[in-house]
Amino acid sequence: MRIGLFGGTFNPVHNGHLKAVYEVQKRFALDKSYIIPSAIPPHKKQDGVVDAKDRIEMIRLAVLNSPDIMESVVISDVELKRSGPSYTIDTVLHFKSILPEDSRIYFILGLDAFLEIDTWKSYMDLFLLTSFIVITRFPAKQNDISIMRKSLENYLQNRISLNYKYSDSESCYVNNERKPVFFFDVNPLNISSTRIRRLISQGRSIRLFVPEKVDDLIKTKGLYL
Ligand code: ATP
Ligand code: MG
Repeated sequence: MRIGLFGGTFNPVHNGHLKAVYEVQKRFALDKSYIIPSAIPPHKKQDGVVDAKDRIEMIRLAVLNSPDIMESVVISDVELKRSGPSYTIDTVLHFKSILPEDSRIYFILGLDAFLEIDTWKSYMDLFLLTSFIVITRFPAKQNDISIMRKSLENYLQNRISLNYKYSDSESCYVNNERKPVFFFDVNPLNISSTRIRRLISQGRSIRLFVPEKVDDLIKTKGLYL
């Protein structure tokens, strides 16, 4: 089984997240992906993060109303059940312990998150335990693309391991001691939860950015006002 793990705050979940999961599942032929909302995001000010129950309910509504992913995505409350901050290393170890041994685990994250990975707890160990799929949003100009690729490569080699080398045949960075790192360019959806929260607080519509049922729940509960 090929398994995706997609962690985040999801405050709130939006169409960018859903599209990312769908595209990754297709490209990497994943059998199943887990969306894993964090309890206390270690990297975010807790201000403005709504209750975990509301965040998970919004993800549930979003997935149930997305026919492309509803059968292959599972929402995991593993980080919500743990006490204290949610660390990805604990989550990956958890999934390694419950999944069949021959499972291939891919941790899915955006480029913005990946470029901060050297601030995560036990991040070096993560590269021994799980492959990564880094969702990039490449700029339109060919010239900018090569600059961006170079800076990604520098980060991976200088902060993680000089042994990461690009393999053309596998289309990813490989390393004989560590798991591969894939960069996957998704057609950009220029959406973030921050932008959605800002629109709501300005009284503007978010209808284009989240599934309708999520919009309804946010309105009913008066979230992010
Ligand atoms: P915030 O603005 O509060 O940081 P966010 O939109 O970045 O919210 P997170 O919960 O922080 O959402 O993100 C979870 C994961 O989804 C991260 O790995 C992030 O990089 C990725 N992600 C966020 N927005 C998009 C998008 N539009 N397309 C693809 N991936 C995204
Ligand atoms: Mg973010």
